[in-house]
Parts: sequence; C-alpha cells; structure tokens
Amino acid sequence: MSGILYIISAPSGSGKSTLVNELRSIVPNLEFSISYTTRPPRGSEQNGREYYFVSRPEFERMIAEDQFLEHAEVFGHYYGTACRFLEEAKASGKDLLLDIDVQGAEQVRKKVPDAVSIFVMPPNREILERRLRRRSQTEKMDPKVIERRLENAEKEIVNYKKYGYILVNKILERAVDELKAIVLSQRARGSAKTLTAEDQELAHIADGCLLARSHDKVQPVLQSFRTNL
Ligand code: ADP
Ligand code: 5GP
Repeated sequence: MSGILYIISAPSGSGKSTLVNELRSIVPNLEFSISYTTRPPRGSEQNGREYYFVSRPEFERMIAEDQFLEHAEVFGHYYGTACRFLEEAKASGKDLLLDIDVQGAEQVRKKVPDAVSIFVMPPNREILERRLRRRSQTEKMDPKVIERRLENAEKEIVNYKKYGYILVNKILERAVDELKAIVLSQRARGSAKTLTAEDQELAHIADGCLLARSHDKVQPVLQSFRTNL
C-alpha cells in the first residue's frame, strides 16, 4: 500500500461531498478523515459519521493539546483534522483523503509537501447558486447562509492555483471518473509494477486535470464570478 495523502477543497456547494462519497464507494483502501467541528449537525448528519460535533471549549482544548494536523475557522465555526487520522493511515499503509478548506490545505501542504491536492469548481456561479438552493431545501438551511457561501466562493475560488489538479464538476459521472483517475494514477505511479493499458488511460485522464492544463476550462468559471486572477 502506498500511503498517499489526498487533499480536496472546493467552494461550498460545488459537489465535493457528492464526489468524495462516489469515490469512496469505488476505490478501495482509501481512508477518509472525519473532521472535528463546532458547527451544529445539518439534516441527517450523525456524530462520528460526517463529523465529530464538539463544543467550542472542547475544540479549543484540542488545539491547546496540539491534537490537530490543521484547523481553521470557516463560516464562523472551527473545523479541524485530528493528527491521529494521518498517524493511523500511515501505520496501516492506507491512503488518506482530507476534505478541508483552502486555509487547512495550506497548513497541510507545509507539513506534508508531497500531498496530492485537488480543487473542485462548480461550472459557474449560477449553477453553484442553484445547487446551494436545492441543497438548502432538503437540509433546511437558512437562506442567509446561501448568500454568505456565494460570497465566500468568490474569495475561495482564486486559490485554485495552489492545487495540483482542477476538477470542474459539471457532469457528475465525468467528474467522478476524473477524481478516480487522479487517485488511481497516483497509486500506479508510486508502485513498481509496469503500467497496463488501463493505467495509461487513467494517467491520461488525470493529466488532463493538471493545473498547468486547466487554463481553458477555468477561465469561464472565473469570469462567471467576475474574477480574472
Ligand atoms: P459540497 O460538498 O461541495 O458543499 P454537495 O456535494 O453537498 O456540495 O453538493 C451540493 C448539491 O449539488 C447537492 O444537492 C448535490 O446533489 C448537487 N450536485 C453535486 N454535483 C452535481 C452535479 N455534477 N450535477 C448536478 N448536481 C450536483
Ligand atoms: P460544511 O460545513 O459545508 O460541511 O463545510 C464547510 C467547509 O469546511 C468546507 O469547505 C469543508 O471542506 C471545510 N472543512 C471540513 N472539515 C474541515 C477540516 O477539518 N479542516 C478545515 N480546514 N476545513 C474543513
């Protein structure tokens, strides 16, 4: 087993959780770090499944005890990855996936420079707004939260340049295939075996998502957010 660390970030509502859930159902030996957060559970979320829901004092105690690999304040709540997830994944030789925001990703990159980082974008601002609204209907989210998340998306999206791979989540099946290709081709690259035709096909799909090759697909997204960085 390879023990690769994957970081995935995205503006809220881009479809990152959907993609990660699909990925986990098709790629074996991929551990998922369950973050700690001080935000209250949403919809059908359960403690210990989507997140560990803790109080602010409890979270601050964990910070003081240096229990976090990274932590950040997002939308007024603390979120953090416990070091133990990385330690456990290393000990079992499994790959680990972190679903964290851009601030957390920056902290992890400093500690684990060979982490593979992936940034997910919505196809444009309008579709992001639609997805956020649809999700808020099923999860009973305050409409004000949507406005805040859209504003935040505008700020977050410019950070795409810090990531190794870019996914534009337009057609779900395609984005899932690309994410799978990134993960599996990294594994194949790290293994000593000769690459099969399938490995080469996956590498080809993954390479198409490299930051350096993503200029043309990123520009329309940035323009829809009126961001030309
Ligand atoms: P995030 O984890 O990035 O906040 P979610 O995975 O919760 O986003 O997705 C937000 C909403 O968009 C959900 O209702 C989800 O079903 C929907 N969604 C995700 N990906 C797509 C896609 N490619 N096409 C259409 N809807 C999508
Ligand atoms: P949500 O509240 O929608 O589940 O998540 C809000 C944001 O917090 C998302 O961008 C998500 O990636 C981020 N997030 C979730 N867990 C962590 C974590 O452990 N650390 C950091 N830095 N961000 C996190």
